[in-house]
Amino acid sequence: MREAELRLTKGELRYLVVVYELGKGGELVKASEVACRLNVKSPSAVEALEKLSKLGLVIYFKRKGVKITKRGMEEVLRYYRRHRILETLLVTHLNMDLDEACREARNIDAYVSDDLINRVCKLLGHPRKCPHGYDIPPSSECCGTALVSEEEVTTIAAERSREVNDEQPCKPSGSPDNTYTPP
Ligand SMILES: [Zn+2]
Ligand SMILES: [Zn+2]
Repeated sequence: MREAELRLTKGELRYLVVVYELGKGGELVKASEVACRLNVKSPSAVEALEKLSKLGLVIYFKRKGVKITKRGMEEVLRYYRRHRILETLLVTHLNMDLDEACREARNIDAYVSDDLINRVCKLLGHPRKCPHGYDIPPSSECCGTALVSEEEVTTIAAERSREVNDEQPCKPSGSPDNTYTPP
């Protein structure tokens, strides 16, 4: 039976994405680093990380740091998928420019269902790249390819860091560009 779709709030996703990005090589990320990146106080970060830990998306070691789990990584990739599919739709069908599409996608990418995203993916012919040229993580249900192979995780993680370092658009909510409005 298919597992019920996990629905994270925009705030929770923001934390998860930051843990994923900061811990790319599988290293432990300090709660204070996460707090700094998101511009929140450490106790708030600890609280959020403990919640994600309960959901099995990260492992939080008290006073040591936090690490994303495979399940957590899948959630992040699902998030990138939603963002990038929406962005592709807005650019190809609604003629938006990239920045505008990225901003609009970011406003709704935490809320849309996998079902809707899969329908859009099908409509678009299962695109593999977003308009920025970044990989769109595929869905096995929709595109006939698994969402996460280890190789893909590594590639996508590498692309993520390049994306962030080059100050390209299409950043996830947690990126330090201050365009993110907290929920
Ligand atoms: Zn993009
Ligand atoms: Zn598809």
